[in-house]
Amino acid sequence: MKEFQGTSGLIFNEPLLWEKGKKGRRGFSMPRRDVVPSPVDEGLAGDGPDFPDLSEVDVVRHYTRLSQWNFGVDSGMYPLGSCTMKYTPKVNEREAALPGFAGAHPLLPPELSQGALELMYRLERYLAEITGMDAVTIQPAAGAHGELTGMLLIHAYHKSRGSHRSKIIVPDTAHGTNPASASLCGFNSVPVQSNEKGIISAEAVAAIMDEDTAGIMITNPNTLGLFEENIREIAEIVHSKGGLVYGDGANMNAVMGIVQMGKIGFDVMHLNLHKTFSTPHGGGGPGSGPVCVKNILEPFLPVPRIIKEGDEYRLSGEFPESIGKLQAFYGNFGVMIKACSYIISMGYEGLKRASQLAVLNANYIKENLKDSLYLPYNRPCMHECVFSDKFQEGEKITTLDIAKRLMDYGFHPPTIYFPLVVHGAMMIEPTETESKEDIDRFIKALKSIVAEAGKDSDLLKRAPTLPKVRRLDETAAARKPRLAG
Ligand SMILES: *Cc1c(COP(=O)(O)O)cnc(C)c1O
Repeated sequence: MKEFQGTSGLIFNEPLLWEKGKKGRRGFSMPRRDVVPSPVDEGLAGDGPDFPDLSEVDVVRHYTRLSQWNFGVDSGMYPLGSCTMKYTPKVNEREAALPGFAGAHPLLPPELSQGALELMYRLERYLAEITGMDAVTIQPAAGAHGELTGMLLIHAYHKSRGSHRSKIIVPDTAHGTNPASASLCGFNSVPVQSNEKGIISAEAVAAIMDEDTAGIMITNPNTLGLFEENIREIAEIVHSKGGLVYGDGANMNAVMGIVQMGKIGFDVMHLNLHKTFSTPHGGGGPGSGPVCVKNILEPFLPVPRIIKEGDEYRLSGEFPESIGKLQAFYGNFGVMIKACSYIISMGYEGLKRASQLAVLNANYIKENLKDSLYLPYNRPCMHECVFSDKFQEGEKITTLDIAKRLMDYGFHPPTIYFPLVVHGAMMIEPTETESKEDIDRFIKALKSIVAEAGKDSDLLKRAPTLPKVRRLDETAAARKPRLAG
């Protein structure tokens, strides 16, 4: 194996543009003026905004240098658990940039938007097929927005049956957005503990499920990277008391083409197109959190809905039981184009293979590292595996130190200290797009960090030592943030 892990090289310091400019410098040249300046120009002189005066090369270098301080999936492995930071094919960006799509205006009438409407309609059908659900809305802008939509749907469902329920069951391994979404919708979340296998048992749900409980929110595979094996029994218990099952599908990358979510008892679930279906994320750009439902919830889906009549597509608001609108328009269209392009280009077999490889890669990492890092749940995992810093306790090395040191080896750290049920958690999700060579380099890096912990713990406490920004004082950063320049 060739050694090219780690970082070194030419990273520039860069001031603010205002500190860099020089009065009178310009990014373009104009022919010398041969007319008398008009009074309008004179009136404006000196009143314009305080923009720095810069040449084109100043601007290009400024942004290029800033971009080099950053780390993205295009620069290296980004095994951030639960986030599915996989490489997203550039061809999908090209499709999204096609002028007919990129230039489409959301206020254009349906006659002039047939292509865009067809794409949205088809995407809904593809997502229904992939999840095994009946109907889909692609309006929500992110996973958390999808969760809120799902909670509103569950609320509307109970209301339509004349009942008012106040609680939602949420497992202790859940992402923080789950209880937050439940409470934003006015529900009280009731925690349920996972068992020694890292999953929820049917008995634990049976013990708390009652007729004031609107449903359960369950992530499958869960945030420990484990499949909730009792999901069918759990769904039966919840349904028998009149509740509904919400599935958090953020981890769909593990089970595409393998698990039909509709058949394991989910009534409603969200997907994260920016995780599983080819939109680069992590920098805060637009996302999409479609919500897929069973027939019983379809009447409540947000409007407008995309309708197909003959060969024509149109938007319809004629759904009297709908929970209403969730977006100014219909969702983040650019993300939908990428997802559609990704699904069509991968096909059924391609998506299934992607999930199989994502699971294989995570298990490979788990098996190769379990002697070096403590593995709290030693069983086959799905697309991610969770370790902890328990073996390093004697050396006083923590998960944070290990994560920081990984940057010196040229890797983005994994998700740390989540899920909360594992003390000092390190949650690693390699995804299907990393090669075996890169995964081997990652394993080797972690093994050498573990060896360093025994020899030079000072080094680990100082890490990272190579990147532009070194170890930050996180307490000061949170307590005394410097928000300007
Ligand atoms: C990412 C994630 C969410 C939230 O999704 P966003 O798109 O970030 O709002 C919810 N649940 C789980 C398990 C996740 O990993």
